Amino acid sequence: MIEDLFDNNIRWAASRARVDPEYFRRLAAQQSPEYLWIGCADSRVPANEIVGLDPGELFVHRNVANLAPPQDANFLSVLQFAVEVLKVRHVIVCGHYGCGGVRAAMSGERHGLIDHWLQPVSTLCRRHAHALEAIEDLDARVNALCEKNVLAQVASVAENPFVQDAWRRGQPLSVHGWIYSIQDGLLRDLETTVDGREAALRLLDGDGTRAPAPPALAAVS
Ligand code: ZN
Repeated sequence: MIEDLFDNNIRWAASRARVDPEYFRRLAAQQSPEYLWIGCADSRVPANEIVGLDPGELFVHRNVANLAPPQDANFLSVLQFAVEVLKVRHVIVCGHYGCGGVRAAMSGERHGLIDHWLQPVSTLCRRHAHALEAIEDLDARVNALCEKNVLAQVASVAENPFVQDAWRRGQPLSVHGWIYSIQDGLLRDLETTVDGREAALRLLDGDGTRAPAPPALAAVS
């Protein structure tokens, strides 16, 4: 019942205030989270709960398949605010195994508007088609693409001008790629952390997330 949500809310607010009477007054005054979370909109991946952080401690952006698209005004607004105003120290791109968005992109079937949103994942899928097709089990194949998608989004964040400018200013900022398992509730670090422009260059040049240069250009360079 929808009314239950208000009852839940009253109980939640009361329990918070009981433990810490200054809690809401303090939160209302300011937020100073150290982390930006870029995660999937999937209801089974509640950002704050997974990492045990309270309101005010995690700035959150969620969309289908945890994308960091360089043309999305919503994502870019969140990223700029997080980096330049909140000055978060860590950007966490967190995917999850069994992601429905990744599965839909991999299927190649038509679903409507979401196909446009998921186009970067479809492109990634085609780019890694050889390696992915070698994985017989469909779920394992989807999970492999979930991991590759996290790496691609880390690369996208690392390449973003807001992030590049922060590094140029000497602002401490790390970008992490994690993946979450709905089956056991555990996070896994994909060990792709980028903490500066040099590390970003190594990632962008080395992980295959960039399309190879056309043969003609490659020949002259
Ligand atoms: Zn998902």
